[in-house]
Amino acid sequence: MLRVTICSAVLFHVCLLSCEYNGGSLDSNISSMAVQKQYFTLNTGQKMPMVGLGTYRIHGQSVIHRVIEAGLKAGYRAFDTAAVYRNEEAIGLALKTLLPKFSLSREDIFLTTKLDPGDHGVGTTTKAVKSSLKKLGTSYVDLYLVHWPGVSRLPVYSPDNAIIRSDTWRELVTLHRQGLLRAIGISNYTVQHLKELIENSHGVIPAVNQVEYHPHYKQPELLKFCQDRGILLQAYCSLGGSSDRRLLEDATVGAVAKKLDRSPAQVLLCWALQQGIGVIPKSVSPDHISDNIKLDFIISESDMVTLNSIPVVEKYAWDPTPVL
Ligand code: NAP
Repeated sequence: MLRVTICSAVLFHVCLLSCEYNGGSLDSNISSMAVQKQYFTLNTGQKMPMVGLGTYRIHGQSVIHRVIEAGLKAGYRAFDTAAVYRNEEAIGLALKTLLPKFSLSREDIFLTTKLDPGDHGVGTTTKAVKSSLKKLGTSYVDLYLVHWPGVSRLPVYSPDNAIIRSDTWRELVTLHRQGLLRAIGISNYTVQHLKELIENSHGVIPAVNQVEYHPHYKQPELLKFCQDRGILLQAYCSLGGSSDRRLLEDATVGAVAKKLDRSPAQVLLCWALQQGIGVIPKSVSPDHISDNIKLDFIISESDMVTLNSIPVVEKYAWDPTPVL
């Protein structure tokens, strides 16, 4: 059962946002000081920052180093990567140098990586996890996601997708119990994929479902399904992705941003947070990186209604709905 209470104190613009999920909970005290302190308590008991830094399409050691440095400086403590981004090694190396520079240790940050859809299945899953750990230079990851419900080598309509992803999950449960993966979750799972997984969970319900979610692509049924079961819904493409400006340039988003004296990106991110949805904006620009975590404001209920009624339906990333 989801409970959300939002109240704002006029003088200090302090918002107390409290959501309780079945198994996971949002425990945040959003003040003008510290959105960095906004955490979600996963169904494993770990505290996961609600704002993390996305790293898709960021490559090259010096670029990664600059991005992670700007992120740590701005207050990010969560970083999202994936085997298919081909940047795990560079992120691992950057963290090795930068954590001591910021007087931080491995335990102070939250690292997420994901299974390459080509590595689904018995044996290959464990091999892929170990390869990611080695590249990231760490003995564990905080969260490991099944990147995609489909298996690369199979057509989307093949019933074998379901059989093989169940094998993958069983293997991840073992690795989670061994402590290599502090939490396990999925990405791009629809309600149907999730129902199947929960029916055959091998004793572990996913902690997170990372999916495309923004005002041009809302998935209220999926959000409710996750929140009712204590699964954090984490949004990707919150800003519309790297190759499309339509969401950032949406007139309604722009009007709310102008009214609040914030950027469209900040409005899009705050819109998600106010619904208990985690975000992982990607940027290579130190100014954007810093802006994207300054979410010390409240979107009023009426502006939330306005944003929720944007009629555009546009998917900017891959579509998992045809995957059996
Ligand atoms: P995104 O975060 O929606 O958008 C990134 C784009 O927005 C970049 O072009 C960036 O340009 C621009 N941007 C960032 N901050 C801005 C600001 N304040 N003002 C104006 N423009 C801004 O796209 P995304 O990378 O696709 O998604 C975010 C993360 O989610 C990824 O990096 C990845 O970690 C994850 N992801 C997961 C999946 C999945 O299947 N699980 C799929 C896609 C993404 P600059 O770099 O120039 O700032």
